Amino acid sequence: MAQSDLHLKRVFYDAFRRLDRGGRRFQPEVTAIEVRFYPYAGLHHTIRVRAGRVYVRLSDLFQAAPPEVIRALAFLLVARLLSRKAPRDQERIYRSYAFSPQLLRASDIARRQRGRKVISSANGQVYDLERIFARLNRRYFDGKIEKPVLTWSKRRARSILGHHDAAHETITISKILDARECPEWFVEYILFHEMLHIKHPARIVNGRRYYHTVAFRAEEQSFPRYQHAQEWLDHVVRKRQELRARAA
Ligand SMILES: [Zn+2]
Repeated sequence: MAQSDLHLKRVFYDAFRRLDRGGRRFQPEVTAIEVRFYPYAGLHHTIRVRAGRVYVRLSDLFQAAPPEVIRALAFLLVARLLSRKAPRDQERIYRSYAFSPQLLRASDIARRQRGRKVISSANGQVYDLERIFARLNRRYFDGKIEKPVLTWSKRRARSILGHHDAAHETITISKILDARECPEWFVEYILFHEMLHIKHPARIVNGRRYYHTVAFRAEEQSFPRYQHAQEWLDHVVRKRQELRARAA
């Protein structure tokens, strides 16, 4: 995974060097390039620059694309970013893959399955995750957290109240919290925790991943109702144990 990740960065790095030979417009380092596959609703890719870093999101329908197609796509996206004309041959390579029957079919299916569902599932019966996210982002992160896909879980899970999937840039919140009995500040706390996972990516030490670093925990405790939220967490967990005991 790490290898192919580096390979993707190199492909884009190379496209920058070739399209901007003098380095007059923009010439990022390999380490300043992030490339991710993203479950867009249709066939869609984005590239943007923020604070000197390049963020690329490729449709996950391209995950199995041959190397020369990814390379062609890199040229197209970088050319778009630099307002240059993309090389003709690269455009041809990209198109012949993107418009092949099997890819069009896959993108059709993705559009049908993801399109509306993904958008509407952020808006629950009681709480709208998009609105809560925007508020938290403004209040605690200076608006700097890039909005992931936000969605209520399909099942009413009690064991996992929130989850951040870095690979797909998705935050899922358990539907159990989308209820009038659940105070809004508790939903905020759970979403705040998951947003911290975006701000503080996992650290890898001796091959192990650490998600809740010291910096993460310190910032988490700055949440105004942090203590109260811990009591609520206990409350939700206890309820789960009671339910389990009853079922047993
Ligand atoms: Zn966590």
